[in-house]
Amino acid sequence: MAKIYYEKDAKPEVLEGQKIAIIGYGSQGHAHAQNLTDSGLDVVVGLREGDPDIETVKGLGIAVATVEEAAAMGDIVMILIPDDVQARVYRDSIRPGLKSGNALFFAHGFNIHYSQIVPPDDIDVIMVAPKGPGPMVRQMFVEGGGVPSLVAVYQDYSGMALDRGLAYAKGLGAARAGVIETTFKEETETDLFGEQAVLCGGCSELIKAGFDTLVEAGYQPEIAYFECLHELKLIVDLIHYHGISGMRQRVSDTAEYGDLTRGPEVISPEVREVMKGILDDVQTGRFASEWVLENQANRATMEALRRREAEHPIEELGKQLRSMMSWLNE
Ligand code: NDP
Ligand code: MG
Repeated sequence: MAKIYYEKDAKPEVLEGQKIAIIGYGSQGHAHAQNLTDSGLDVVVGLREGDPDIETVKGLGIAVATVEEAAAMGDIVMILIPDDVQARVYRDSIRPGLKSGNALFFAHGFNIHYSQIVPPDDIDVIMVAPKGPGPMVRQMFVEGGGVPSLVAVYQDYSGMALDRGLAYAKGLGAARAGVIETTFKEETETDLFGEQAVLCGGCSELIKAGFDTLVEAGYQPEIAYFECLHELKLIVDLIHYHGISGMRQRVSDTAEYGDLTRGPEVISPEVREVMKGILDDVQTGRFASEWVLENQANRATMEALRRREAEHPIEELGKQLRSMMSWLNE
């Protein structure tokens, strides 16, 4: 079982007198900058010249500087920009400002685990990764709670890397909910596997396969859309709040019996074997290499696949049906 830390385990004094540079002001960045500031920590936000968020941050009374300046000012430098630009921004604008004994923080392990960023030996490398979107990290904090987070130490130069991570997590509000210890390897590999096999890849293909099966058998696409896509939210919400058994208690006995007997036929032993192959690609770095090269190739494959997917009949039909449901149009 994982080790879980709470507020009492944090030693806030390790961040006393330390400046925390938050690079980026997007989903996570805005929440980290504001929560840490409200916790009394000394924050500077690093943004590109001309970024409209410069005024937003100033308006909150939080210091703002260029990425280069913030990285040089920070004893702690948290990188909260998109994962696929981090290596370049690190090389050009962050690495030059790092000093011995500084700590480089991440909210996801990809660039460190797959060696896209190779930090110098004389700094700490730490992850604090909230298990929720940025706006939730901010909202929970304001309400006096927090979003559970992961903490991991990749490199402990100072001898207090874990304490720095926990103090940061406390400032973020995460230690109110619980901070789960992991490694960069575990966080990165499970994150990639989860989004590929289950959350994004598995789920989208499952929906389309169900929809196509019904439509090819002659059923009306509108009806197939509701059964295979629209109603998924209902079921996912039940699983989210009550677990799988709790969901089964809340659907009809007919639905539950069909689930119990037919589900394992859909996710057959062969599918489980395929999942192992997907995990192998993640573990060997084969997926990571492919994705890094894909980005260097201007995302040729990704753009072609995006176009092809957008042309699937479920998409056009979906637009039309969603427009009939006023509550879905925000
Ligand atoms: P966002 O996409 O929301 O970050 C956008 C920010 O990055 C903006 O401030 C943007 O500036 C800036 N930015 C983009 N490109 C550059 C660049 N080339 N140079 C400098 N700044 C740039 O990121 P997230 O908050 O989603 O993710 C940040 C990290 O947090 C990632 O490692 C991610 O994996 C991790 N994470 C994200 C979660 C989430 O819920 N989103 C959850 C847990 C972890 P501008 O506005 O000028 O474009
Ligand atoms: Mg993720």
